[in-house]
Amino acid sequence: MIVVENLNHTYAGTAGWTVAALQGVNLTIKKGEFIGIAGRNGSGKSTLAKHFNALLVPASGNGRVLVDGLDTRDPRAVWEIRQRVGMVFANPDNQIVAPVVEEDIAFGPENLGVPSAEIRERVDKALNQVGMAGCQKRVPHLLSGGQKQRVAIAGALAMRPDYLVLDEPTSMLDPAGRQEVMQTLRQLNAEQGVTIILITHHMEELVEVDRLLVMDRGRLVREGTPAEVFQ
Ligand code: ADP
Ligand code: MG
Repeated sequence: MIVVENLNHTYAGTAGWTVAALQGVNLTIKKGEFIGIAGRNGSGKSTLAKHFNALLVPASGNGRVLVDGLDTRDPRAVWEIRQRVGMVFANPDNQIVAPVVEEDIAFGPENLGVPSAEIRERVDKALNQVGMAGCQKRVPHLLSGGQKQRVAIAGALAMRPDYLVLDEPTSMLDPAGRQEVMQTLRQLNAEQGVTIILITHHMEELVEVDRLLVMDRGRLVREGTPAEVFQ
């Protein structure tokens, strides 16, 4: 479970200005849920996403975020939290780090010190999970956008996360690529029980989530099933 309590986030600029990006956000995400997050540009969605895996942490007095009971403000918990909560961003080209697909997916587990036999298993399984079995030796930059984004998702899955946070993962993809990614997310959630937190601008992608959260000017302003929220 991810619990967000009274979370505020303020960005401070050099010239003394500040932006209140999150204001009093409270929410709970249970394991196995498929959550959608919507809201206009600048409403705080990406800032919230970064709090889920301790890329950002609450300043003192600005609330707290607990991932399976681990507090993101605790430096000793950050490593564990980052393994539990995988992140995928909009641009797959910025997330692919190696010249061969299997090396790219192995990068995370290698940094964890996972033994090489297990890394091979993890790479093969992750490629299976994203519908790209057999693509181990492919060259990432020659893949389609949808395939690249699925390689990025496989890289996150190789860390064996319980939660996968995707910040506008389809925004740079063509309709076919978007469908591939959405189908992958649905399967991961339904068949593997991976908790999905999907930030997107595409209404049609939000129709199928279990629960939809709507952000506006740093606040969580609506929460419910898509039918409830769209009404
Ligand atoms: P969204 O993802 O919904 O577009 P963000 O979380 O990116 O919203 O941004 C929320 C607010 O915080 C916006 O006003 C944005 O300009 C500001 N912001 C985001 N990142 C930074 C940053 N690194 N420094 C200063 N302000 C930022
Ligand atoms: Mg954003």
